[in-house]
Amino acid sequence: MHYCRVAVKYPGKEGILTYKVGEHVVKRGDLVKVPLGRRKVEGCVVASQLSEDDVREEIAGFQIKEVEEVLPEVMSLTDSELSLYEWMAKYYHYNLGMVIFESLPEIMKRPKKIDLKNGVGKTLPHDLGELQAPIYKDIAARLDRGFDRFYIHGVTGSGKTLVYLNLIRDTLARGKSVLFLLPEINLTPQFTETFLDYVDCPILSYHSGISNSEKFIAWKFLKESPNPVIIMGVRSSVFLPAQNLGLVIVDEEHDSSFKQSDRCPYNGRDVAIKKAQLANCPVIMGSATPSVENYFSFTHNKNLQDHYFTMKERIAGNFPQIELLDARFGGKKLSVDELSLWPFEQRSIDLIKSALDSGEQVLVFVNRLGFANYVQCRACGHKFEDPNTGVALRYFKNKGILSSAHSDFEIPMPEICPSCGNMNLLQKGFGTERLQEVLEQVFPDKRIDRFDRDEIKTLNALTEKLDAFHRGDIDVFVGTQMLSKGHNFKKVNLVLVLGVDSMMNFPDFRAIERTYQTITQILGRAGRYSEEAKVVIQTLVPENKLFSTIKEHSFNGFYEDEISIREFSGFPPFSKLAVIHFNGRFRDKLIEHSVSVANGIKEFCAKNSFKVDVLGPAPASIERRSGQFTWTILLRAEDVAHLHTTLNFFEKNYNRISGISFKIDVDPYHTL
Ligand SMILES: [Zn+2]
Repeated sequence: MHYCRVAVKYPGKEGILTYKVGEHVVKRGDLVKVPLGRRKVEGCVVASQLSEDDVREEIAGFQIKEVEEVLPEVMSLTDSELSLYEWMAKYYHYNLGMVIFESLPEIMKRPKKIDLKNGVGKTLPHDLGELQAPIYKDIAARLDRGFDRFYIHGVTGSGKTLVYLNLIRDTLARGKSVLFLLPEINLTPQFTETFLDYVDCPILSYHSGISNSEKFIAWKFLKESPNPVIIMGVRSSVFLPAQNLGLVIVDEEHDSSFKQSDRCPYNGRDVAIKKAQLANCPVIMGSATPSVENYFSFTHNKNLQDHYFTMKERIAGNFPQIELLDARFGGKKLSVDELSLWPFEQRSIDLIKSALDSGEQVLVFVNRLGFANYVQCRACGHKFEDPNTGVALRYFKNKGILSSAHSDFEIPMPEICPSCGNMNLLQKGFGTERLQEVLEQVFPDKRIDRFDRDEIKTLNALTEKLDAFHRGDIDVFVGTQMLSKGHNFKKVNLVLVLGVDSMMNFPDFRAIERTYQTITQILGRAGRYSEEAKVVIQTLVPENKLFSTIKEHSFNGFYEDEISIREFSGFPPFSKLAVIHFNGRFRDKLIEHSVSVANGIKEFCAKNSFKVDVLGPAPASIERRSGQFTWTILLRAEDVAHLHTTLNFFEKNYNRISGISFKIDVDPYHTL
């Protein structure tokens, strides 16, 4: 009698169960269907060929069931694929069967046929520049030496892509495949297009915008074809079964979109590094604004110092000049004219006017959607809130609704206050819609369009909008961060940035880092093709030191300030973090429970002399969602091993209470 262990697709503590193999033939990595209680679930074999002796302890006292079905072998995982999932399950403290099946495409019996895009393999348009060439040479010489980490820190416009492209071509020439990760689906079309010209292999784009058929076919194609291919996609493409992987590239490594927030909260960048290690190939990370943690490790770790490369100049154009505009009223009463321009300063409007008059286009950034951030009754102070979360509703004027950013809740914009009947409803704050409306009033003969999630919902819509802008059919783009990443515009010499203050004030230890990264990305949109570009930042705190480092285009200036704050406050890279979220319907019971868990963890750490700070429990930043409350415990440790041992202790000894669930987030992006 043979046995096997199966990671079952079923959430719960016991993720790996033992089954009899029966008449089937199974090996590690095979996908199977197995009975679980009264149901039948999918699973992945993690150990096979086990004898009675091997499993005696784990089967004692149980009636062991038999594997029912082995799924088509084309979907079986290789040892290195399964090892990646096993690493994730361990590192992120997540159920192995769940992480496997959440990543696999749906198995389709009759997938639609899809043509793969194949590159045409032209010669590169120009040679590498003075700054690019030595970096390329250095990395190229180490492409065959197995796993290694490299970092290319190149300012926006320094030509990282051409360095990547040369290294990709070298890798393909060796008959090996390349995994190229990008933070956002928006960026895939332009990279795919460029790469198709200069490589002679298929390029697989993989992101949420493609159908299940396409996902399944991509998967199957990779399983069956040993030929070199480029996989280009967002974080989930890290799971694609590339054979013979020769190079992994993670572009815009710092971007928070690499972190998944629902289900298994993994960071695609970090999983990609692990994947490269398992495939024994190099990984290159790149960014104009390295994450503080990566910059720290590449400049402090002696083994990595000659793996970090920097390009501080643009290949063409110049850095934009930066002007800070003080947006404080200073107590003065605004004139009717000034009020009609709000939230724009008069100076901003003047600059836009002169840019438009000379036939240029203008970009305006704000990090918020809609018309107003919230609506409040002027008479009684009533605020319109999402009953599910208690968070203020945002006003969308075009749709005439108040809508929640955190649930599906929306209502028509009321005409009178439901609590006092007054008609005077104040609209507070601003988003893209408001800026568009103000500009349309000031420049009635110009075409002002929006570029945000509200306006653009598909990849096609995105491409069309960008094309229209490139053609000159749009004079001013008002956009969110969506516009700040990667896109370049020839006729843009003026960029305005509004609303940065709310980003800086976000209650999180990475708030300043994120603001710095966002503004730097935005600066990257200006002056690619000219010597006289200008970026205007409206802020309530122009004296903040962050702005002087931004003005000087000094990453080091920002970094030195930030790293000393991190060291002082004990946040990453000086510690490792994990958050445990507790969810429950009854607030008092939830708080009591989280307090007792926190105490248990503290005791455990004290007993083992672990230096782990147990902070909280504290309410999550949005404490209530759809009737569920969330409280969190933050664990912080200098020694990552202590952190994981503590989490293991917690999981192993956790006494489940009915009505309360928990979720662990290792390396969280948000600590609340
Ligand atoms: Zn009222």
